[in-house]
Amino acid sequence: MSESISRRDFLHIAAAAGALGPLMSLPAHAQSSPASGSGWFDEPMRWVQLTLVENDPGQFDPQFWLDYFRRLHADAATLSAGGIVAYYPTEIPLHHRSAFLGATDPFGTLAAGCKAMGMRVVARTDPHAVRDNVRNAHPDWISTTATGEPRRHWANPELWITCALGPYNFEFMDQVHREIVSKYKVDGIFTNRWAPQGGDCYCVHCQQNFKTATGRELPRTADRSDPARRAFIEWRIARLIELWKKWDATVRAARPEARFIPNGPPDMKSATELADIQFADYQARRGLMPPWANGRRAKEYRAVMGRKPIGGIFSVGLEEPYRWKDSVQSEPEIRLWVAEGTANGMRPWVTKFSGVLYDRRWLSTVERIYDWHFRHEKYLRNEAPLARVALVDSEQTETFHTGVAQGDRAADHVLGMYHALVESRVPFEVVHEALLTAERLAPFKLLILADAAALSSSQCQAIRDYVARGGSVLATFATSLYDETGTRRSDFGLADLFGVSFTGRIDGPMQNSYLSLEAEPATGRRHPILNGLDDTPRIINGVFRLDVKPTMAFPSPVTLIPSYPDLPMEDVYPRVARTEIREVYLRDLGKSRVVYFPWDIDRTFWDVMCVDHLRLLRNAIAWATNEPPPVEVDGPGVLDVTIWRQRQSMTVHLVNLTNPMMMKGPLREAIPVGPLRVSVRLPVGTTAKKIQLLTAGTSVTVQQRDGIVSLTVPTVEVHEVVAIEI
Ligand SMILES: [Zn+2]
Repeated sequence: MSESISRRDFLHIAAAAGALGPLMSLPAHAQSSPASGSGWFDEPMRWVQLTLVENDPGQFDPQFWLDYFRRLHADAATLSAGGIVAYYPTEIPLHHRSAFLGATDPFGTLAAGCKAMGMRVVARTDPHAVRDNVRNAHPDWISTTATGEPRRHWANPELWITCALGPYNFEFMDQVHREIVSKYKVDGIFTNRWAPQGGDCYCVHCQQNFKTATGRELPRTADRSDPARRAFIEWRIARLIELWKKWDATVRAARPEARFIPNGPPDMKSATELADIQFADYQARRGLMPPWANGRRAKEYRAVMGRKPIGGIFSVGLEEPYRWKDSVQSEPEIRLWVAEGTANGMRPWVTKFSGVLYDRRWLSTVERIYDWHFRHEKYLRNEAPLARVALVDSEQTETFHTGVAQGDRAADHVLGMYHALVESRVPFEVVHEALLTAERLAPFKLLILADAAALSSSQCQAIRDYVARGGSVLATFATSLYDETGTRRSDFGLADLFGVSFTGRIDGPMQNSYLSLEAEPATGRRHPILNGLDDTPRIINGVFRLDVKPTMAFPSPVTLIPSYPDLPMEDVYPRVARTEIREVYLRDLGKSRVVYFPWDIDRTFWDVMCVDHLRLLRNAIAWATNEPPPVEVDGPGVLDVTIWRQRQSMTVHLVNLTNPMMMKGPLREAIPVGPLRVSVRLPVGTTAKKIQLLTAGTSVTVQQRDGIVSLTVPTVEVHEVVAIEI
C-alpha cells in the first residue's frame, strides 16, 4: 500500500506533516501518557458496578452477581462499601452498618469473589447523607441553608445532607477510606456525590474557611457577575481539589497502587493533573437529548485525560427526573447509548442498584454488548484518535458567560456545532481551553470555536500561535469578546485573526431576516462555502448577530438582508433588497484558513435545524480544513463517525443514530441503514493487511488506491466497526 501513495498525496501529507506534526501519527501527549506505563488503570476494559441497598444483606445472592460478572468478561468491579451505609463490619463509630448486616460481610464476600476471578476491585462510598445520631453528635457536619437551618435530604426526610467541604469529609470519611483500603486491599475508592449536594452550605466551617481564603462573606446571590459568587466558585473548586488530594494520599498510604477516584472532577481541567483514571457518570438519555451526548462526554473527558482510561457509566433504566431506579430501558436504547460511548473511546461500565432484581430484561442485553466488546478488545484498545478537527470546550464560558442577550446561551451554540459535525460525518475531538498547547493541538488541522465567548489573552495568543503554525480556525458569534472572567472586552480578543472589529451593537432576536448568496464579481463564480445552495439566491438568517466592521479586504459570498415585517402579510417584502454587510468572513492565509461567522449560525441550527445552515457549516468546515478527510462515508442516514489507531490496526466506528426517536429516546427499535460506501485514508507508511467488519463478523473486499481503502458496509444496525490491520 505505501508504494501506491501518489506523489501528489505524498507531497500534501509531507506538507501537512511539516506544518502540524506527523499526520495521523500519535499525538505527542498520547505517546508520553503514563497510562500504559505504570499502574493498573489501563488494564480493565469492561467494568461493572453493583450498588447495594440497605436491605440487600441476607436477601441478595452474591454468587448470582459473581457468575454474571464472569459471563460479562468483566475486568473490574465497583462495589458498595461505606458512607451512608456500611456493607462490611466497620469499626468506626457513627459509620452506620446496614441494619440487615448481622454477622455478614457482603462487601468482603463480593470483593473476594471478584479478586478470585482476577478482577480489579474499587470500593464505592457515598458520603452525602447521614442519620439523626450523626447530626446529634456533630451538628457542625451537617450542610446548612442560607437561613441557618440544617439541610434535610430532599428525597429521604429521615436523612440529613452532610457538608461536603468540612470535617465530615475531611476527617470522618478520610477514616472510612483508610479502613476500607487497609482491610480489603482494594485498588481504589470511588466516591459518589462527594461535592456539595442540595445547595450551598452556610455552616460554621464553610463561613470560616471561605473568609480565611478570600476575606469575604459567603455569597447570598447566585449572580455570577457578583465578586463574592465568583470567589466562591473558585474556592469551592479549590476546596474539592484539596479533598481529592487528601483522600488520595490516605488511600495511597494504605495501599500504594490504589487511588481515590471522584465521581466527577471539581472542574474538567483538575482531572488533567490529578486523575489516572476517570469515569463519566452519564447513565442514559433524559428529556430531549441526542444519543451523541454520551460520545460528547467521552470527548470532553479525553480532552483533559488524553490517553488515560475513561469509563462510561451507563445504567439499564430510565434516567428521567422521576428517577425510576428499578426500571429497565428498551434494548436498542441501551445498545445505542453504550455504542456511542465505545465509538468515542470510553470503556463500558454498567451500573445497577439493588442486589435483588425485579425486572431482569437487561441482563442478556448487557451480556451481548460485553461479549462483543470482549471478542474485539484488541480493536478497542485505542492508542489515539485520528480526527483532524477539534471543537474547543470552554468551561469559562459555561461558568461565567450568560449570553449576549435574553435567549442566547453559549451552550446552544456548542450543541448546534456538535450536531452539524455529526451530521457532516466529520470525525472530531474536543480540546479544553486550558490546554491549547502546541503539543495538544498538533494532531489537528482545524480548531472550532462555537461561541467560545470567554477566553483569556493567553488563550487567544495560543490560538494565534496555532494559526501561525499552519492550523485553521472556524469561530462563531461572541468568541473571544469576553475575558476569562466573563467581562466584555471593547473588541474581540481575536479581532486581528478574524479581520473584523466589534462595533458595540448586538441585533436580535431578529424576525424574518435573510442572507443573500452571491457570486464573486471578479470571477462570476460562487465561493465553495455555497456548494449545494446553487439553486437559491438567499437562505434564512439566524436570530442574533454581532455588528462588526472588517479591517481588511474580504470576499462577499454571504451578505445581510435585514429584517422586514412578518405581519400583516401585505407588508412582508424586503425594505432593503441587498446590503454590503458580510455575514461570513473568510481569510485564506496559505496553509491556514480562518472563518468567522458574526451571527449565531450554530445556535440557530440547534434551535430550528435548517438544512441550509447545515450546508453552510459543512462547507465552511471543509473549506477551512483544506485537506482530504481521514474518512468519508457515503450513503443514507445520520451516523456518528469516529476514527482511531491501535497498536497494530486502525478502526472506523459507524454508530447509526437514524431513528425517529433520535432526539428523545428511548428507541423502539434499531432501524438499519446501508449500504454505506466508506473510504479510509491509511496512515502514512502503512499498508492494509486485513479488513473486517466486527459486528457483521465478515471480512470485506476492498479497493486500495493512492493510500485510500474503499469498501462497502452492507448495513449498520446500531454499531459497526471497520477494523483494518496495518
Ligand atoms: Zn459547610
